Amino acid sequence: MYNSLPASINQEPAAHCRQCGTCCKKGGPCFHYQDKHLIQKGIILSKYLYTIRRGEMAFDNVKGFLSPVLTDIIKIKEKDNSQECIFYDNDKGCTIYKNRPFECRALKCWDTKDIEAVYSSSRLSREDLLGSINGLWELIQEHQERCDYKIIHCLIKDITSKNKEAEKSLNQILKYDNAVRSLVVESSSIKPDMTDFLFGRPVLNTVRAFGLFIKQNNTY
Ligand code: SF4
Ligand code: SF4
Repeated sequence: MYNSLPASINQEPAAHCRQCGTCCKKGGPCFHYQDKHLIQKGIILSKYLYTIRRGEMAFDNVKGFLSPVLTDIIKIKEKDNSQECIFYDNDKGCTIYKNRPFECRALKCWDTKDIEAVYSSSRLSREDLLGSINGLWELIQEHQERCDYKIIHCLIKDITSKNKEAEKSLNQILKYDNAVRSLVVESSSIKPDMTDFLFGRPVLNTVRAFGLFIKQNNTY
């Protein structure tokens, strides 16, 4: 939400939110500590969330450029092939309005001081939500270590210099990333649509932000 605000809004500043939905069409919000209860109490289900993992490339809406993130960022999913927040409805507006997250409440498109002040602070992490779940938390930590974006970034640099060993290592990471998702789905009550929250989005997709495109047969 709120990257590059619409010209019409800039020209005619609103003194209040008109609920026009423009910000909701530009992406879902990131979660902050103030939102913990929304997820813990199941008001917003984890199947509607995804995690941008530490080190992953992401667009910083306030700074306005792509950079590796320093901590987990938990976000509401966007609709398929769109930037629009999954909870936005063209007729009804925000379908979780009473329970909308902190960032949505802080955003005033006519005065971005408040959102800029809170945007990067007190971000909610997977550890805040899952750190006490024995077994699952250890698996998430192991996945974070083995699929560390620092390692992935180095491998990608080597792959672009035609290093075959680096290709092999990245293929192993992709295999593991895929296997861990299947494992939790097959061996627990976790549904496939929850895995982007638990383990971040598949590495196969996120490496594109580092400039690497993987073909169907896992060649580069
Ligand atoms: S805050 Fe969002 S919904 Fe409200 S007027 Fe601005 S762009 Fe529209
Ligand atoms: S949660 Fe609601 S207010 Fe926030 S971006 Fe989504 S639709 Fe808009």
